[in-house]
Amino acid sequence: MCGPRLPARIRRAYTCYRHGLAAYKVDLAVEGGVPWRAEVCRKAGTVHLGGTAEEIAEAEQAASRGRMPRRPFVLVAQQYLADPGRSAGDIHPVWAYAHVPHGYDGDATAAVLDRIEQYAPGLRDRVVGLSTRSPVQLEAYNPNYVGGDILTGANSLASLAFRPRPALDPYATGIPGVYLCSAATPPGAGVHGMCGHNAARSALRELGLTVAAPACPSP
Ligand SMILES: Cc1cc2nc3c(=O)[nH]c(=O)nc-3n(C[C@H](O)[C@H](O)[C@H](O)COP(=O)(O)OP(=O)(O)OC[C@H]3O[C@@H](n4cnc5c(N)ncnc54)[C@H](O)[C@@H]3O)c2cc1C
Repeated sequence: MCGPRLPARIRRAYTCYRHGLAAYKVDLAVEGGVPWRAEVCRKAGTVHLGGTAEEIAEAEQAASRGRMPRRPFVLVAQQYLADPGRSAGDIHPVWAYAHVPHGYDGDATAAVLDRIEQYAPGLRDRVVGLSTRSPVQLEAYNPNYVGGDILTGANSLASLAFRPRPALDPYATGIPGVYLCSAATPPGAGVHGMCGHNAARSALRELGLTVAAPACPSP
């Protein structure tokens, strides 16, 4: 965003930033809910469909090498179980996405439905509405999801510790008063709020203000 104002060495470092796998989003309206074979899945807010550890490794490896996995890793969420107000009578919203190659522009809908059907035979007969978003469409919706990478960067060991570039203060951009507070900074996506918290501490330090220790919630 600050293009020419960035010091050249920092701009170069950002240019080398590595993005990760993409998500292919499939949202369903399902009459009677997903007919999971396993009773526990009917009560779970989130169900991860990966199969065995070997199957997960195979699917993730294929996607990271740019090939659409035969049986992708699929995450299914049934938020309506905690918030029944999302359902219309017996029609329930079911939210899913698969891990697919970065920038994938094919149609992964059938692969996602097949994966769910594997554990919930008869799903397709209950689907009364379907909406999909490919990695390309995810990026069009939010330019931060480069190539459909909803976690804002590859989650390798090195990139988790040194994102978006190796630096003592990864929140600083080299432009006074401008800080990064996104999931592209440590501790990365999945630790909600901490990137912003750390960026704010960096800003306070630069202003010479005392940084209070974070308040710990009492047990
Ligand atoms: C379907 C889905 C499921 C997810 N599930 C989980 C989960 O279960 N757990 C988890 O931890 N994380 C999850 N995430 C990821 C999580 O949402 C992100 O890690 C987090 O939102 C990243 O926060 P951020 O502040 O870095 O960026 P964002 O929340 O992406 O915010 C960036 C903002 O900048 C705006 N923007 C981008 N480019 C420009 C520009 N050029 N000019 C002006 N504005 C711009 C965007 O519109 C957006 O509002 C999920 C994401 C998606 C899409």
